[in-house]
Amino acid sequence: MSDAVRVRVPAKVNLHLGVGPLRADGYHDLVTVFQALSIYDDVAVAPATTLSVSVTRDNGRGSGSRDVSDIPVDNTNLAARAAIALGEYVGREPAVSIDIVKRIPVAGGMAGGSADAAATLVALAALWKLDIDRAELVELAAGLGSDVPFSLRGGTALGTGRGEQLVPVLARGELHWVLALARDGLSTPAVYRELDRLRDNGSHEVPEGDVDPETAHPDALISALASGDAHAVASHLHNDLQRAALSLQPTLRRTLRAGVDAGALAGIVSGSGPTCAFLCADEVSAVNVAAELSGAGVARAVRTASGPVPGARVTDE
Ligand code: ATP
Repeated sequence: MSDAVRVRVPAKVNLHLGVGPLRADGYHDLVTVFQALSIYDDVAVAPATTLSVSVTRDNGRGSGSRDVSDIPVDNTNLAARAAIALGEYVGREPAVSIDIVKRIPVAGGMAGGSADAAATLVALAALWKLDIDRAELVELAAGLGSDVPFSLRGGTALGTGRGEQLVPVLARGELHWVLALARDGLSTPAVYRELDRLRDNGSHEVPEGDVDPETAHPDALISALASGDAHAVASHLHNDLQRAALSLQPTLRRTLRAGVDAGALAGIVSGSGPTCAFLCADEVSAVNVAAELSGAGVARAVRTASGPVPGARVTDE
């Protein structure tokens, strides 16, 4: 596979996730602050006779995936969809093999599928030596899913619309995280449905001029990120989906409590969950919190990670 292009792509956590009311078209407006974390999938794309996808679990210490057998390897895999979309855009047959090494938790609220789609776009653009600019790739990414543009970009960013309209956010220094991976995944649409149910907002009606306080601009968090003060960032972490994720997986309450008891500054459900993300004061604290959480038996696996890190990038390996 010497002619393969390899791309490394990070997971994400939402430091702020404000969810507007259910819209008539079935979507919700979001105001979110993403940060890319140092847990990566590796995606290798190589010329082949037909389009194929393989997914393997990284069996090393870094593995975050409980089981990759739930991930489709047909054209519904988000990486395959990315290859088909880019092929259609440039008028080429996507005859390539896509080999994914999974470390990002599956159905864990860390945008694993979106990451693989972004990685495939970057890899194919390099393999086909396309003269395509970043804006075109971002547009294709947005068509594949609302988290895909952020997986391309990485760093720390404010997302609006469905989360796909991004502007960079200045984040001084490095933040140290501990991630508690759950035994079972949560389906993102199911978590949104649960939020609508809890809000009793199933009418699909959004009153005209409605200003939803839950999607208000996360100014305080953005200032805290600029200051580089992890304590200030911790006090402004917010996720509107947390209530719904906890309603569907009540044991996550115990996980969140255990992380804070172990010394984390704050804990939050990552995106639609069920991964719980704990912000720690520094790297030493993160290692200690991870060790204590592992011993507490409240998670399937525990990882440390730092952020922000860059988005999907070609690697030499
Ligand atoms: P998000 O945080 O973007 O809401 P998630 O991290 O919770 O998503 P994913 O790991 O992206 O969830 O997986 C959700 C579902 O998407 C999986 O259960 C799987 O069936 C499907 N899927 C399709 N392609 C992929 C892929 N390349 N990697 C993982 N899951 C994929």
